[in-house]
Amino acid sequence: MTRLSSDDFRALVTAMASAVADNAERLTELDRAIGDGDHGANMQRGFDAVAADLDTLAAKPLPEALKAAGMKLVMTVGGASGPLVGTFFMTLGKELPEEFDRAGFTEAFSKAVAAVAARGKSHQGQKTLLDVLFPMQAALEDGKSVGEIATIAGQAAEATIPILATRGRASFLGERSIGHMDPGAASVALLASVAASMLEQQP
Ligand code: ADP
Ligand code: MG
Repeated sequence: MTRLSSDDFRALVTAMASAVADNAERLTELDRAIGDGDHGANMQRGFDAVAADLDTLAAKPLPEALKAAGMKLVMTVGGASGPLVGTFFMTLGKELPEEFDRAGFTEAFSKAVAAVAARGKSHQGQKTLLDVLFPMQAALEDGKSVGEIATIAGQAAEATIPILATRGRASFLGERSIGHMDPGAASVALLASVAASMLEQQP
């Protein structure tokens, strides 16, 4: 059984916010190629807002903290990605018990991915952040290690490059969306690598 302490939650949010800030320019650059060039700024605004609320959030039990962080992201990220990234964390919080084993985490993660797909009216293969979330879910179900899951997430983001976008703003470009990494997919892979490096350090 795992119980993520309030200090672990703090460390995770802080690391995510700083990774998003460090990569904001790269994420925006990706969105400039096939979108409207705001994805890095959107994500940074959201994660900065969550980090600014950390004292209040970390005082809550983990499921409540995740739900509140998700709601904050919905309110602050904006764009198409805000409600999707926010829904992911809100649903994870709703589905995750305070203490969980791998099977429990996998189930909550799957429900969070399904909620994102429902919210976006989207599915895998459309060049969106779901193209990283679904492979991560499969890797969790396959019993892969956290490090392997982060690697799979990075590869899945790379694999969005040759895909034609059929959802989101990039789909307006048609064939011209081919040859660029999806910015939302890049964000999810980034967050996965931050979470993995933190969880790998756990005893
Ligand atoms: P906007 O497109 O409104 O400017 P962002 O730039 O912040 O919002 O986010 C764009 C990202 O959101 C895309 O790269 C894609 O991954 C994701 N996205 C957009 N629409 C959808 C959708 N319907 N389903 C899943 N993901 C989506
Ligand atoms: Mg955008």
